[in-house]
Amino acid sequence: MFSKNQIVPVTIEDISDTGEGIGHVDGFTLFVSRAVPGDTVRARILKAKKTYAIAKAEEIITPAPGRVTPECPVAGSCGGCQLSYLAYESQLALKQKKVEDCIRRIGGFTDIAVQPIIGMDEPRAYRNKGQFPVGTAVGKGGAAEPVLGFYAGHSHRIVPTALCGMLWPGHEEILSAVREYLTESGAKPYDEETGRGLVRHVLMRKGFATGEIVVCLVVNGTKIPKPEFLWEHLKTVPGVVGLCLNVNREKTNVILGDRLIPLFGKASVTDCIGDVRFEISPMSFYQVNPVQTKVLYDTALAYAGLTGNETVWDLYCGIGTISLFLAKAAKKVYGVEIVPEAIENAKENARINGLTNAEFYVGAAEEVFPQLVKENPAIGADVIVVDPPRKGCDEKLLTTMLAMAPSRIVYVSCDPATLARDLKILCAEGYRLERVQPVDQFPGSVHVESCVLLERVSNRKADSYVKLNVKMADYYRIKDLKGGEADG
Ligand code: SAH
Repeated sequence: MFSKNQIVPVTIEDISDTGEGIGHVDGFTLFVSRAVPGDTVRARILKAKKTYAIAKAEEIITPAPGRVTPECPVAGSCGGCQLSYLAYESQLALKQKKVEDCIRRIGGFTDIAVQPIIGMDEPRAYRNKGQFPVGTAVGKGGAAEPVLGFYAGHSHRIVPTALCGMLWPGHEEILSAVREYLTESGAKPYDEETGRGLVRHVLMRKGFATGEIVVCLVVNGTKIPKPEFLWEHLKTVPGVVGLCLNVNREKTNVILGDRLIPLFGKASVTDCIGDVRFEISPMSFYQVNPVQTKVLYDTALAYAGLTGNETVWDLYCGIGTISLFLAKAAKKVYGVEIVPEAIENAKENARINGLTNAEFYVGAAEEVFPQLVKENPAIGADVIVVDPPRKGCDEKLLTTMLAMAPSRIVYVSCDPATLARDLKILCAEGYRLERVQPVDQFPGSVHVESCVLLERVSNRKADSYVKLNVKMADYYRIKDLKGGEADG
């Protein structure tokens, strides 16, 4: 057992999902911030538990191969780019290994060669969206001052930040305009402890293809004092075309509330991926890295193998980005998504691109998809594309996908662990894992996106060449999937 402030030498073997280096000492697991795999460090214990401890690297004894001094002035205190201590090539190698390990260990696939990860030529200034928490700090003269920045790792302490190297150059002018507005208008930053105060977050999104920027203040209310004062400042920032409010009155960690109030100019940003044009509401999900999104969607399109005769489902479709990419090459595309504003965008996006063969439905994919199939048994599915959030596909959805027996499933994933879990289930029921292509959408962070192709080989259990070892207790119970019939 360790004690607080004890200094322990440790070699870092792995990295956690939230970016801490993982090492072992005397049977204990240490989660060490500011340390990366390959480092040997002297770690200071910050919190000791029964089987593990949280620690911070105080001194590097032997640096990992590829260790660099981060360029960012707030690296180490900001929770954002956990891999900024590694050269980009080493970051890519780590992500490749993460995907391979998940596919092998969680998925049980022993003979699948994961394709080499596709990285960026210029892994900086790639993000099209920034979200900055707003809070209060004691200024030099002892008076309370508004602060804008990023959260420190594992906390809601705001690290004041004027500039983020991962966002587009020029975003800092928006932050200074908001800071000035807060000081002069008297609009109070929100206080997470008490639930009082008004301004919670500043959200900004830029369409890289058009240059348009929309700013959205997340507020604990329905109006702000002197809105025209803020707009006068903001509209002088090159690219800014609109300002809106998002209403979030809940005491919650979730950033956005469910109401949008347009104030000035446009309430959505226009962007293009390839030759498809999109309108994007601040409420809708949109991939943050346009360069790599094109790579990801091109891969999904290639894996879908469309000839023009197929009925395709795009589940978790957001604003219809993948759906519309596919609609150009398919007979019919159905998109399903839970956020109503995103579906409004999707319908509008189909219209502005002149695509009449895409239909969109609002609701939970696991509810809406089975319901639509039940109402219209002849609807069919030649190809199903899924792009779920980190928790992966709902088991009810996997059951419906298996029942629809499409020839191909394209799985776009932002979490290789839940991806591997779901692949194991699908491959136990007649699909073969053909391709796994990692794509680096988030340079600097531990996250990695993958695009996967599954082909249907039979309606029965997987053939012998897919070496599976499905255990009952793995994430989902197969018996539940099969409606109560135990199988293992
Ligand atoms: N394919 C889109 C969006 C992917 S992100 C793109 O590439 O832009 C995942 C999406 O799933 C988000 O838009 C989120 O709102 C949506 N979502 C989350 N849970 C869902 C559910 N149960 N059913 C349908 N959509 C869901």
